[in-house]
Amino acid sequence: MQVLKFGGSSVANAVNIGKVTAIVAKAVQKEPVILVVSALGGVTDQLIAIGAKAAGGDESYKEQIKELEVKHLEAVRGLLPVQNQSATLSWVKQQLNELERICDGIFLLGELSARIQDRLVSYGELLSSYIITAALKELNTNPVWTDSRELIITNDFYGNASVQFEMTNQRILSFLQSNSSSLYVAPGFIAANEKGYTTTLGRGGSDYTGAIFAAATDATALEIWTDVTGMMTADPRLVLNPRPIEAISYEEAMELSHFGAKIIYPPTIQPVMKKNIPVWVKNTFEPEAAGTVIQQHAVANSDVVRGISSINRIALLSLEGSGMIGIPGFSKRLFEVLALNRINVILITQSSSEYSICVAINEADANTAQRAIDAFFAYEIENGKVNPVSVETGLSIVAVVGEQMKSLPGISGRMFGGLGRNGINVRAIAQGSSEKNISAVIAATDVKKAINVLHEDFFETTYKQLNVFVAGAGNVGGKLLGQLNQQLQYLKDHMRLQIQVVGIANSRRAILDDAGIDLNNWRSVLEESPETDIHGFVTAIIEKNLRNSVFVDVTANEVVASVYGTLLAKSVAVVACNKIACSSTYENYKKLKHLARTYNTRFLFETNVGAGLPIIGTLNDLMRSGDKITRIQAVLSGTLNFVFNHYNGTIPFAQVVKRAQDEGYTEPDPRLDLGGTDVMRKIMILAREAGEMMEMDQITNEAFLPASCFEGTVADFYAEMERQEPHFQQLLASAKANHAKLKFVAEYYNGSAKVGLQEIPAHSDFYHLYGKDNLVLFYTERYPEQPLVIKGAGAGAEVTASGVFADIIRIA
Ligand code: ADP
Ligand code: ASP
Ligand code: MG
Repeated sequence: MQVLKFGGSSVANAVNIGKVTAIVAKAVQKEPVILVVSALGGVTDQLIAIGAKAAGGDESYKEQIKELEVKHLEAVRGLLPVQNQSATLSWVKQQLNELERICDGIFLLGELSARIQDRLVSYGELLSSYIITAALKELNTNPVWTDSRELIITNDFYGNASVQFEMTNQRILSFLQSNSSSLYVAPGFIAANEKGYTTTLGRGGSDYTGAIFAAATDATALEIWTDVTGMMTADPRLVLNPRPIEAISYEEAMELSHFGAKIIYPPTIQPVMKKNIPVWVKNTFEPEAAGTVIQQHAVANSDVVRGISSINRIALLSLEGSGMIGIPGFSKRLFEVLALNRINVILITQSSSEYSICVAINEADANTAQRAIDAFFAYEIENGKVNPVSVETGLSIVAVVGEQMKSLPGISGRMFGGLGRNGINVRAIAQGSSEKNISAVIAATDVKKAINVLHEDFFETTYKQLNVFVAGAGNVGGKLLGQLNQQLQYLKDHMRLQIQVVGIANSRRAILDDAGIDLNNWRSVLEESPETDIHGFVTAIIEKNLRNSVFVDVTANEVVASVYGTLLAKSVAVVACNKIACSSTYENYKKLKHLARTYNTRFLFETNVGAGLPIIGTLNDLMRSGDKITRIQAVLSGTLNFVFNHYNGTIPFAQVVKRAQDEGYTEPDPRLDLGGTDVMRKIMILAREAGEMMEMDQITNEAFLPASCFEGTVADFYAEMERQEPHFQQLLASAKANHAKLKFVAEYYNGSAKVGLQEIPAHSDFYHLYGKDNLVLFYTERYPEQPLVIKGAGAGAEVTASGVFADIIRIA
């Protein structure tokens, strides 16, 4: 004998049922079959809704019954030839009339008991099994339909009844003996108590019906046919690339389903495990695919973790109190009161100090549990030995399951490390002593992210995914997105890194797409995207709560720089080419670094100094390896370098500045560059990175622009520069006379910093510095005489973008 069970989606309509009957007809040729079926997809939910409406005095239940009738009649018409339909059609109508009469009763009384509810939902499986039997008759099989309520006997806990196996097994065997056939069809989910009242086995219980039949008949196999190709490493609705599990042990399957893997109803495994009957999970819509086998021993493969699952709507109860210490029986009493109230305990933790005990239950049971526990411990609460139970809701459990975990250290470290790096706070942890599973209670809002983090970590060794949000779609932003687009495949192939740009914002609009924005045409999409400001963008980033999120600021905007703290505190990494945050107050700079450390994320800003040149990274490496920075000398302004390299006295100074501006090497107001502010910011950032507590007003600026240049608008500035041409000529003449060149130099030494125009003699490192190049000299304890030198283009959108790119990769 083999038992085949088909779920709701497999029997959703005539087309799907056609696939089912074909699979069954083929199976019968091999060995006799007991076929167990669920209600047509969605019907149980509809029946429950109908009952609730009727009980609530809402007459529209009648319309819903009509819809159910149409659905079932359509299935009959789609499955049977016209000449054979009438008997089944009238049977279906008769059942629905009966159902309607029950509902009318419920409506009149305004009340729906658990017993009547079970009666009501039983119609789903009764109808489906009867219709499928009729369809099988058309395929020259000889199906015998049976009402499971006459065979499966339970106690009378309606809605979730317990099976009385001895009686049930006897009845099944004697039924089979007296009705010899090679094909039996039975409704799943429903049973009856000894008085003959209909009971049900719990939502999803048709799997269990299959297992009951399989165990009773010592079947060769139980096949669970559903809409996915086997058990997967994680819920395919939550994870993009789940893998089918080839083989899994009974215990592992039980753990996964207990912790929420909906694919199998948890009690299903027990009866078949006792009899060592293999369970196959197969896909009705892809019958040739192997699926998953659940058996005594899973074949050992390289996966230490077998699967990851989650349960939503969890409440955490904590019972605490000094009176609990060392007194035996406290926890026993807690579980007793929960059991008395039929509250299922999903997870337990107790601290070794025994000062507190914490259990996770379904949120729906939280109120009952709280009342019952407080009443039960009223005496102890009154005497201050324990506190009233505390209840926290809005939680979920994630569990990592695998039998081989016990033989390998470091699994929980990996699990909690991954959760921590993504800012997922763990409220409670449990690990069975058998070490088949490690589970963690987390906020419900973090579940999807957690499952993906864990799945990526344990199963997707192939790729690590970064979710990137880019603020700023100007020059640098455009170049960055272009570079990313070009390198996506390379990073996948060579670094196993999958970079997804999931958000792009300019000052007016934002594109957001979890599946990754197409970087070939983002500009036109952005123009049509909804309007939002940076705060809306940040809110979306936080709400999306994607794993490995990176926020990239390629603006020069102060408001954008003000959101880093909020993001870092949500463990979103920040990459900034915007200098404003790092050159704001020391307190703010320090706070952002501290947040990054506290929330286990990164705050990187290599391009704040020298665009794409590896200046800050080198400084960090020197410091981390124990070196000490004694002096920094640098030419840090590409703009000023450009200006003084082009100013030879033939063209007026103002025109050279204009050209620098036209070629995009200056800030919108060139005075920020020419006045030295930009260089001051950069040397301050370097000093801070070297460990100095420095503020802007501590830096000496030997300005070369006459004070009059700082008055008025940018246009006024250009006019004033023209008037001041003799001043610039004079600076140039003096340098020439000394065989020197003019460079704007920044210096950090002995705790202080200064910037200013200098005449650079020919023997200096700075003399041969062309175009918009930057040059940094690090004098350190290890480089005391000959400094460590970094030189190269220090401005330009392309190199800045590539520096930002490098920071993004550093985060991965
Ligand atoms: P049926 O109606 O056939 O009983 P269910 O809806 O009860 O089907 O269970 C199948 C569904 O379980 C799948 O469609 C899938 O979305 C979900 N599921 C959750 N976790 C897993 C998992 N680890 N592997 C496969 N499917 C899973
Ligand atoms: N039809 C029932 C339910 O939806 C049982 C099942 O499908 O397994 O819960
Ligand atoms: Mg199911």
